[in-house]
Amino acid sequence: MTDKQIDRIRANGKVPLFIDGEFVDSTTSDWIELNNPATQEVIAQVPVATDDEMQRAVESAKAAFKEWRDVPTVERVRYLFKYQTLLKERQEDIAKVLSEETGKTFADAMGDVWRGIEVVEHGCGMTTHMMGETAENVARNIDTHSYVHPIGVCAGITPFNFPAMIPLWMYPLAVACGNSFILKPSEQDPLTTVMLTELFAEAGFPKGLLQLIHGDKRQVDAILDHPDVKAVSFVGSVPVAEHVYRRGTQNLKRVQAMAGAKNHMIVMPDADKDQVVSSLVGSSCGAAGQRCMAISVAVLVGESTRDWVDDIKNALGAIRPGAPGDDGAAYGPLINKKSRDRVRELIQGAAAEGADVLLDGSEVTVEGYPDGNWIGPTLFDNVTTEMKVYNEEIFGPALCVMHVDTLEEAIELVNANPYGNGTSIYTKSGAAARKYQYETEVGQVGINLPIPVPAPFFSFTGSKNSFFGDLHAYGKQAVRFYTETKTVLSRWPEDDVPDGPNMTISMR
Ligand code: NAD
Repeated sequence: MTDKQIDRIRANGKVPLFIDGEFVDSTTSDWIELNNPATQEVIAQVPVATDDEMQRAVESAKAAFKEWRDVPTVERVRYLFKYQTLLKERQEDIAKVLSEETGKTFADAMGDVWRGIEVVEHGCGMTTHMMGETAENVARNIDTHSYVHPIGVCAGITPFNFPAMIPLWMYPLAVACGNSFILKPSEQDPLTTVMLTELFAEAGFPKGLLQLIHGDKRQVDAILDHPDVKAVSFVGSVPVAEHVYRRGTQNLKRVQAMAGAKNHMIVMPDADKDQVVSSLVGSSCGAAGQRCMAISVAVLVGESTRDWVDDIKNALGAIRPGAPGDDGAAYGPLINKKSRDRVRELIQGAAAEGADVLLDGSEVTVEGYPDGNWIGPTLFDNVTTEMKVYNEEIFGPALCVMHVDTLEEAIELVNANPYGNGTSIYTKSGAAARKYQYETEVGQVGINLPIPVPAPFFSFTGSKNSFFGDLHAYGKQAVRFYTETKTVLSRWPEDDVPDGPNMTISMR
């Protein structure tokens, strides 16, 4: 099977938009270069879509919604069943392209696609989620029932770090609920979403249900300001999430904005040391640390864990980055040179702030790839809350180690941190785990698990500065986000209707 759109991009060097059911080249004169992060080779040019293209996308999505909302949910999910089958059949092909444009290892790219497919599978059960509630005789002879119905044109704005999974958190569920959708993926890796969109069309969904618009801040703001876009799902960095939430809600839209993070792993003295060490390596450096749920701070509790730092150092020192296709590589390059330079600067400034830099990956090289955005595994010990490496989301393969005497101190530290995306505790004590789970003010907690990203039938429940809004991504909360509830009160008695006007609020 050929990837028509990928072949077309390879031939003409332009990433297409998908408007009104057609892949089209943008008429813009403004293009962003897409580079391979391991080599800097130019993969393609990404259009900054014009206002007219954005308007056509919204018009088409509006028209599609009018008909789609009348399609019974049971019929809507038949398209989704077909879509998940196609995604599974093409998982490897998608992962190859994803790995080329992000630099992720192939295995990690497969995981990125897979966790998105799981959300589509969840969406296949939408018939049950779209059920309302009923109650008989809520007042004498009066019954109540409620319906769940779609809201219209929804939009999604996604980050670079999970180009398959995060878009798939959004439009499959929004569409299964009966909405149409405009997707503005990251301009740093849009090819994956072109493939996802091509398969969406192949699954037979009616035209106009999904529109793919490329660009940057300008297209995001156009979405946030457009009166016909009813709800916006955003995932990205904290400053942009704040902007999206403020501007979207200012324009009276529904907005859910998932943002950045600083995730702590609490290590109790009774934890299994080998398990702790390998979990820290994978969760701090997997995907080059470019995960919102990466563990970036290890909090070692008690004196007896002090010398575990040597084991962590040895284990981190044993892994290395490399280009996709290099089987010995634990992870790939950073997404672009700017990110690499930023992380480099943070690492090189850490010693001056008083951190012990036990591993410095800022100048690492990878044989055969002199131009890749490489950062080697990096380890800071004796980090304090005043340091930049603690206060900023590094988003690179770097781990901060801190030491505290008690679990209470660890909880205080985590709760004082402004982020609340994820955290974990490693211990053999049920009591310590229960205390941590109960007292920590973080939205997602792992117990002897490093990266507690919930399965799609739950929701992704980051909190504090890691999330702005109230209804979270995927799971039941996403169904509520993408729908409205209508409640009907009815009375059908043939007699026994009270005479005269009811001048009160009570039901009779
Ligand atoms: P980003 O905020 O730079 O970009 C996200 C999206 O916003 C992109 O589509 C981009 O084009 C757009 N954008 C960028 N600048 C903008 C601006 N000034 N105004 C309007 N739109 C703008 O994020 P990124 O670097 O692509 O992704 C990494 C960030 O995303 C990290 O902070 C990471 O923690 C976070 N993230 C969070 C979650 C979560 O679920 N909480 C998941 C993945 C990533």
